Amino acid sequence: MKILVLNAGSSSIKYQLFSMPSKVVLSAGVVEKIGEGMGSVRHEVFKTDQQVEEVRSQEEIPDHQSGLKKIAGLLLDPQTGAIQNGDEIAAVGHRVVHGGEKFGRPALVDDKMFFELQQLSFLAPLHNPANLRGIEVARKVFPTAKQVAVFDTAFHQSMPPRAFRYAISRSFYEENGLRAYGFHGTSHQYVSREAASLLNIDLQAFNAITIHLGNGCSMAAISGGKSIDTSMGLTPLGGLIMGTRSGDLDPSLILFLSKTLNLEPDEIDNILNKESGLKGLTGENDLRSIIARYENGDPAAALAIDMYVYRIRKYIGAYAAILTRLDALIFTAGVGENSPLIREKVCEGLGILGVKLDRTKNAGKASGGSRELQADESAVSIMVVPTNEELEIANQVMSLLGN
Ligand code: ADP
Repeated sequence: MKILVLNAGSSSIKYQLFSMPSKVVLSAGVVEKIGEGMGSVRHEVFKTDQQVEEVRSQEEIPDHQSGLKKIAGLLLDPQTGAIQNGDEIAAVGHRVVHGGEKFGRPALVDDKMFFELQQLSFLAPLHNPANLRGIEVARKVFPTAKQVAVFDTAFHQSMPPRAFRYAISRSFYEENGLRAYGFHGTSHQYVSREAASLLNIDLQAFNAITIHLGNGCSMAAISGGKSIDTSMGLTPLGGLIMGTRSGDLDPSLILFLSKTLNLEPDEIDNILNKESGLKGLTGENDLRSIIARYENGDPAAALAIDMYVYRIRKYIGAYAAILTRLDALIFTAGVGENSPLIREKVCEGLGILGVKLDRTKNAGKASGGSRELQADESAVSIMVVPTNEELEIANQVMSLLGN
């Protein structure tokens, strides 16, 4: 069975075509700069003899429909393709950022469900409309395929009210849906399940803290394989310090920006989402260059790293307290998978929780695969598990379709 996984953003569509259940990636790529004059296309096809063929082009991609048609054309092309006929794609799995309270699991998209998804767009105005456009065009381009929505929020729907409610008048929750939802759920779910399986622990009995550190950063407390708390809230702005997002703040700071500095809501939105976090502290958001500056003695870079790590450590402490027993700390995504420095700084001094890193294992060359980094005497496993949100979406589509 072939499953196409799509991640449609406001000006891009990323895709991967899987052969399931073998989990083999047949093709992958991205169409970018949709509707921005000259667009760009990168398409890879993985041949059975391990060879990868890559096609790149620059061309005008006026809208999402032409973007997806371009992808379909590449997938069907005898030279660059991986299928002979569009009907071979049994299902298209769509990453949808916000599923609200309605969707705690993947859902088959029909007209009614599409309407329900549109109603949720107010919760994620930057992301959901683009995700929905992806679904809309996929229904036209692959009319025989089942369309399945997989939500970034779904895994965190197991959080209890004490974790997801905000201490404001309950009418804001009941009438306006203001509560914590959490994001990166597909990643937290994938890495926690992988880790439990690698450690040979029954998922229902597995307690862990998952630490997803990419451009966006979030953590989750996993109890018995389920998310019971997570650092992002109503939107993906809360929690950890990220590439360009502030993470947690005193809410009054926003009132100060508005009332005292007379900034408009859109300006504040832009500042907190695009100009804060590591970028606000150092002028840039790529942690690799911030680490290089830190190693050359740059004080702003040193403070940014100190703050970034400190926030993660505080969340580890909080989550250890609510979990009461901890089997594993799991690092994932760009920074979590690739930065020994950040992992070492995060684990420093966590002996109080029984967490002890083996520095040699931590500094060892990244194999690209999952690995354990704890010292022999550590009571808690410390793991790197590369995330794979696309594969997780394909897995969830398969289970929904009953395969
Ligand atoms: P996204 O959230 O966009 O999927 P990624 O998971 O790819 O992002 O993570 C991107 C981040 O990972 C960037 O800030 C980048 O600097 C960081 N990163 C990648 N490799 C390293 C490394 N070796 N050391 C430190 N940071 C790294």
